[in-house]
Amino acid sequence: MSTFDYDIAIIGLGPAGSNLARMLPNSYRTIALDKGFCEKSIKKPCGGLLSEAAQKCLAKLDIHIPSDVLVSPQILSVQVLDINTRRKRRYMRPYINLDRDKFDRYLISLIPSSVEIRLGAWVSQIKELEEGFMVSYHADGETRTFTTKYIVGADGANSFVRRTFFKNHKIRSYVAIQQWFTDTDKPYFSAVYDKKTSDACSWSIHKDGYFIYGGAFKPNDCRRQFEIQKLRAAQRLCMPLESPIKTEACMVLRPKSPAEVCLGASSGVFLIGEAAGYISPSSFEGISFALDSSRVLAEAFLDKSDSLSIFKYYKAHTSHLRFKIFLRLLRCPFMFRQFLRSLVLMSGFTSIE
Ligand SMILES: Cc1cc2nc3c(=O)[nH]c(=O)nc-3n(C[C@H](O)[C@H](O)[C@H](O)COP(=O)(O)OP(=O)(O)OC[C@H]3O[C@@H](n4cnc5c(N)ncnc54)[C@H](O)[C@@H]3O)c2cc1C
Repeated sequence: MSTFDYDIAIIGLGPAGSNLARMLPNSYRTIALDKGFCEKSIKKPCGGLLSEAAQKCLAKLDIHIPSDVLVSPQILSVQVLDINTRRKRRYMRPYINLDRDKFDRYLISLIPSSVEIRLGAWVSQIKELEEGFMVSYHADGETRTFTTKYIVGADGANSFVRRTFFKNHKIRSYVAIQQWFTDTDKPYFSAVYDKKTSDACSWSIHKDGYFIYGGAFKPNDCRRQFEIQKLRAAQRLCMPLESPIKTEACMVLRPKSPAEVCLGASSGVFLIGEAAGYISPSSFEGISFALDSSRVLAEAFLDKSDSLSIFKYYKAHTSHLRFKIFLRLLRCPFMFRQFLRSLVLMSGFTSIE
């Protein structure tokens, strides 16, 4: 008999944590905690678009999306807009447009009853013991603790697990800010570039009658740069960006190289999804990375029985995700350097116009 309360503790139930909890063999005693998904919790800021890569991951996992998770319209193309040159091009890109909170809750609903789920449970301390870990969390006004053999950090960009065990490991981070408006003019989905205010891309998306405008900015002076960009987008691209009804902001990672990805350690701490730094540095698409990295870790737990072998399996079988980050970084100059971007937009290469 194991002396631990649980074999595996999953911290965070976004797409990465939920998918892992769903896939783990029930021979493991698993607990999964998330500080959100309760009455008072704040919803995660997100574009809520499922890229083709994420759709492929869901198909592989045999997960299908119920219609009440979808929002209108479903998106078939993206318009690329350059604020500086006012150039526009449209590219075919089929996205599934969904309500991110409902999508996350749907994934949680797929977790089998063998996993103990604690929602509204904020993990505040993890101590490494001689063997295993002791986890403390706050829920319902109380602090509770338990012991576990393995810890999985699936707790997103600002991962508490990563900050606890890998203090010196830095992953480049930005601040994502997005605002909701009631105007519903076109374009339905656009990727916006403005070298004056950010070296990352911004976006506009329609969702059930709302228009969302957002972008990622370097942490210093992010709010001011967002406001300047909005003014420029309104003036130069005629975007309807007055009187927002809601403003959301959070940290988003943008790895500078695949080496910035932090997978955990052979001591029994593993990181998956954005907590590990798995996210596209060009488009901030992160759901496919979350689903894929969690699938591989579940397979590692199924196939191996000690922490070193699990870690090695996880590292080896997620090399394609680090390679994907490398490829996205190669694409960055064509998206973010004004001269190259202008060439691409002028050429119309792969555009549908
Ligand atoms: C503004 C914005 C727009 C985006 N748009 C898209 C998009 O359209 N498509 C796309 O594919 N990706 C998008 N992304 C990226 C995507 O949201 C993430 O990469 C993805 O959610 C990562 O999934 P995850 O499960 O790793 O982490 P998350 O989804 O971030 O989940 C982490 C979970 O951990 C919980 N948690 C955190 N700390 C604790 C703690 N201490 N105790 C307990 N629980 C904790 C949180 O409540 C959360 O539920 C966007 C990101 C941002 C910021």
